[in-house]
Amino acid sequence: MSGRTKFLLDESEMPTQWYNIIPDLPEPPPPPLHPGTKQPVGPDDLAPLFPQALIAQEVSGESYIDIPDEVQDVYRLWRPSPLYRAHRLERALGTPARIYYKYEGVSPVGSHKPNTAVPQAFYNAREGVTKLTTETGAGQWGSALAFACAVFGLECEVWQVRASYDQKPYRKLMMETFGATVHPSPSDLTVSGRAVLAEHPDSTGSLGIAISEAVEMAAADPDTRYALGSVLNHVLLHQTVIGEEALKQFELAGDTPDVIVGCTGGGSNFGGLAFPFLREKLAGRMSPAIRAVEPAACPSLTRGVYAYDFGDTAGLTPLLKMHTLGHGFIPDPIHAGGLRYHGMSPLLSHIYELGLIDAVALPQQECFAAGVRFARAEGIIPAPEPTHALAECVREALRCKETGEEKVILTALCGHAHLDLPAYGAYLGGEMIDHDLPEEEIERALAELPAST
Ligand SMILES: *Cc1c(COP(=O)(O)O)cnc(C)c1O
Repeated sequence: MSGRTKFLLDESEMPTQWYNIIPDLPEPPPPPLHPGTKQPVGPDDLAPLFPQALIAQEVSGESYIDIPDEVQDVYRLWRPSPLYRAHRLERALGTPARIYYKYEGVSPVGSHKPNTAVPQAFYNAREGVTKLTTETGAGQWGSALAFACAVFGLECEVWQVRASYDQKPYRKLMMETFGATVHPSPSDLTVSGRAVLAEHPDSTGSLGIAISEAVEMAAADPDTRYALGSVLNHVLLHQTVIGEEALKQFELAGDTPDVIVGCTGGGSNFGGLAFPFLREKLAGRMSPAIRAVEPAACPSLTRGVYAYDFGDTAGLTPLLKMHTLGHGFIPDPIHAGGLRYHGMSPLLSHIYELGLIDAVALPQQECFAAGVRFARAEGIIPAPEPTHALAECVREALRCKETGEEKVILTALCGHAHLDLPAYGAYLGGEMIDHDLPEEEIERALAELPAST
């Protein structure tokens, strides 16, 4: 084993196709349903929200989809992203495990989100759309879409979850620098926002509410479409560049992962890293355990139910079969804003049901402890979301220390925390709390699930 730290690919080795895992699964995921008819939604139902090219990708049966040249040109600003071997963290933990992380913080906005924002803006612009609306929780997705809209000449309007809008003024300024307009959510600009404010004037918002606002605005204007930064099949598809690159980088390293861990909000960075490895596993070429890590305050995979539910709070989206805590569930304002979503990607939920991945939920203080440990060893301060994955890496590495196993652990370090430092301030200042999530609270939200289908 070499002492190398970074495994780098040349630009010419950047993937030219996205990988669609659906044809390789033993059975396809259940389709989205129209909330009125309870029939599978057709392309016409989705056309007010998404361009045809993305609707086609959402339901594609092709294993590989070409990445347009215009998208590859933008990807080359930061891709291929580096794979690191965490030698210093391994030493600090005293573990025989070998830990690798695929670092997506090198993108223009500091996370994996531009991997899908860029193609989404490209396809919308190509079909004559002039404006995109969206929501943002941590601010990463809003920044990514604002950047992508600037590249392809689209207007961009963002509803930023109130808690994040107040805590992260620099995210708002970043979006505005790229040319976007930013509103706190809930806002009084939409029917859905006004309904929430009427009941909870001090609402700190949620991704579900912000999605309702952005969807409502897009549906009302024929030249505007909506863009989602996670959850949907086409988003996970675009993120597979992460895993495809990592596979090649593991060849350079002469290693094979035994455990792959990633944090899951809607499932896109995790799916993007894991799916190409899952393809190899299904083909019998490797056998890593693949583990999703979610926050204990928003545990859709580990404590939610697998059922048809709305993607948003107001019930404007199609019904998605997914692991959900109920669309009315408002998670506590934990610092990992990108993980505060009531549901989980239907594709990932299906793969979880098939038993192809497992999941754990971790409390935020343990996660930030791992984030600090990682920062002090590796020099990169992880975004609050991937501290969840790192905490599970630390647990796994310490288990190896006890057993003496030399496991190879791979994780997605899907973003840095340069604009999330107040969260570290709360942790270092001893002000961070672990929110309990009583069973009754989950039951209350689940009682409002749409009638079973
Ligand atoms: C958005 C975001 C997440 C959560 O979204 P996924 O679709 O689950 O990846 C996690 N980490 C970071 C840094 C994010 O920006």
